[in-house]
Amino acid sequence: MDFYAPVARAFIGPLWAAWERSPYLRHFRELKDREYEAAPVAQKKQWDVLRGMIRHAFDEVPYYQSVWTGAGIDPERIQDWNDFESIPVLTKADIRAHGPELIARGYDRRDLRRKATSGSTGVSLEVWVDEPSMQFKRACTLLADERSGWRFGEPVAMIWGNPEYLKRGWRGRLRNTLLERARYLDTLKMDEETMARFAAELTRRPPSLIFGHAHSVYLFAEFVHSRGLGPIRPRGVITSAMILHDWQRQAIEGTFACKVTNRYGCEEVSLIASECERHEGLHVNGDGVYVELIRDGRPVGPGEPGSVVVTDLTNRAMPIIRYQVGDVASWADHPCSCGRGMPLLERVEGREADFVSTIHGELISGISLTENFAMLVPGIAQLQIIQEEFDRFTFRIVKGDDFGPESLSRIAELVAQRFGQESKFDCEFVGMIPQEPSGKYRFCISKLPNAFSDHKISVVSIQ
Ligand SMILES: [Zn+2]
Repeated sequence: MDFYAPVARAFIGPLWAAWERSPYLRHFRELKDREYEAAPVAQKKQWDVLRGMIRHAFDEVPYYQSVWTGAGIDPERIQDWNDFESIPVLTKADIRAHGPELIARGYDRRDLRRKATSGSTGVSLEVWVDEPSMQFKRACTLLADERSGWRFGEPVAMIWGNPEYLKRGWRGRLRNTLLERARYLDTLKMDEETMARFAAELTRRPPSLIFGHAHSVYLFAEFVHSRGLGPIRPRGVITSAMILHDWQRQAIEGTFACKVTNRYGCEEVSLIASECERHEGLHVNGDGVYVELIRDGRPVGPGEPGSVVVTDLTNRAMPIIRYQVGDVASWADHPCSCGRGMPLLERVEGREADFVSTIHGELISGISLTENFAMLVPGIAQLQIIQEEFDRFTFRIVKGDDFGPESLSRIAELVAQRFGQESKFDCEFVGMIPQEPSGKYRFCISKLPNAFSDHKISVVSIQ
């Protein structure tokens, strides 16, 4: 029995928030009160907030003033969601090129929180977030995370790179001891020894939640399972920051005997969508963001993959309006049975750059492609597919026990089937799939532009 958790929840949390002068627990209670609000009511509120943000952006942000005026957009004439779609999309390139012009007048960067992503080009992208928005985002994330079964104040096992609290000195350490109660398996130092030690620790003192990058949690689950360690029995597992494959979900749920709650977000706007306790899709975090899915400039229907375009509803310091995140997702064709009104994503398909475009003009989701190959080719422990050119592929393979000549001929067969008879491939055998600098893994990388990534949906950019 964890007697400390209710104390942390009822006393330490509120005291610490008061000391930090943070309203996030108040936001959290308000969000919880209207979690099941009917969709039309929630949408009306969302629209009002969005209108306010559009006006603010046009009045106070030089970038939007210039681009929208150039595109003939009059914010006063944006009366409904259709009008809203006429606003030009904001790309990563736009943010890189015009960062300072995206900061609203009256805000000083020294008072803002810097969020940086490394990005596939290696050039980092900076977004600046004001403190009220940060605290609101924190509440949205807490609300979503509690749907995993974990409760605020209970201990957490983090499978993550760079423990955040260590950067905050003694305050960070104290806060972690008293409130966050997180123990870390550093994903940048994941090996047999660190995993064995972590497993022993979690067996001795069980966490209520295991949280981490999908693939890293999967690797840890496989390790615990294959060595017969544990049992480790958390109430929930949350995976974040990258694609969760169905086979990974099954393996994780098998090892830890609980459900996986998948969460989707990005550094620039924080939480975008998250599963609820029913696991029928990912609910959009409609209090924090407005989400569109677009292909060739038009909204896609349920089940069709579309590029994720997100509008941040709270960050007034650097308004992020119709931002093309670089990921692809699809809408569910049914509401979730839990009764929450916010729109439901069926799945996050991957990054735009994870989609393979074939010689025949087909666009294949890299996620399903990798799953498919891994399932049909015998002896593959892990796989990364890289599209070098339209008709040339590299397979990075971690061999399993039964990898043999028949595995290679099976790959050749599948390459011809999926990518065309003309296509060629090379195999590279590796000990493990290399991580990105961020600690994430990518299973399919296309070096070619495609219908999502060629910025057809970006109608205007300023010179
Ligand atoms: Zn639901």
